[in-house]
Amino acid sequence: MEKRRDEDSGAPAALRPKRPFVRMSGPKPTWTDDEKRSLSAQAKALAAKLGRALRPADLKRIKIPRRSFFAVKAQAARLGLYPRTRRIQRWNAREEQMLVLLAGKRKLGARSIKGRGFFSASSDHAPFWADRSVDSIAQKKRRHGLVDPKRSQRAKYAKRLTSAERKKLRSALRRNPQRKSNDEFAQEYGVSSSTIRRYRKEWSIRQSWHEAMQLPSSREKRKVLVEETRLRNRARWKRQKSELAERLEKHKQSLLARAAKRGRELEWRVCARCGREWPKTDRFFAWAPKRQGGTIIARYLRRRCRICPRKSS
Ligand SMILES: [Zn+2]
Repeated sequence: MEKRRDEDSGAPAALRPKRPFVRMSGPKPTWTDDEKRSLSAQAKALAAKLGRALRPADLKRIKIPRRSFFAVKAQAARLGLYPRTRRIQRWNAREEQMLVLLAGKRKLGARSIKGRGFFSASSDHAPFWADRSVDSIAQKKRRHGLVDPKRSQRAKYAKRLTSAERKKLRSALRRNPQRKSNDEFAQEYGVSSSTIRRYRKEWSIRQSWHEAMQLPSSREKRKVLVEETRLRNRARWKRQKSELAERLEKHKQSLLARAAKRGRELEWRVCARCGREWPKTDRFFAWAPKRQGGTIIARYLRRRCRICPRKSS
């Protein structure tokens, strides 16, 4: 069913189908009474002309503007214009909820939903749902707006390996004398590295974590990651430090104002590291324990202010 519908694609022009298509995305407008009357009149006239009950293929001769053959067929079935071959099973709330969960939250495609045993009569949960085709699951996903257009376009135009390429990849993965990484294989074969991972799984060609880490590309990657983390931490600490300095400065001003109002003097301490002068309180200097033979006998305010960290930065 979905083959007939071409969504407006974000694909490169060269990849788009040549034939003209009507943009159809999301739920279609419901059938008007006029459309239904027209369909019914045409169906009856056609049946009279043929002198027999209509068969689904006959419906190709019925023309309703802007409605596809499939839409006509579905509507004709609903109107009882030809004997149904298959009973239409409505989706129940439970099925819909499950679909929203699988397709919306877990972002599974119709094929993988079906592949996991959902909506299959043979599944353990069979009484809860009807046996549904991949097409009908996909259709329902569209109706619920659960299709990620970018993702589906990607899937539509994704490169698929030919069987010869698959064979070659399989033996290359098995031997892998140059110890290439999944990323490198992906580049070589023009697919994504998740595709390579999927093939590995499918063919049970495992790559241990240790093995993967020995690959030159992994080492590089790890180095980059470590460096990124370091830079991120440093930037965060710098930000926190300037925020703290700002807060302390504000607090200092308020203490000064209060002291001036009461005609009192503040006690000051100069930070041993940064040289800033702060009021000597535990807002500006942290407490440190004073030990004697392993037991804490007192506490004192540190010589370095709260902005100055233990490690240098
Ligand atoms: Zn300091």
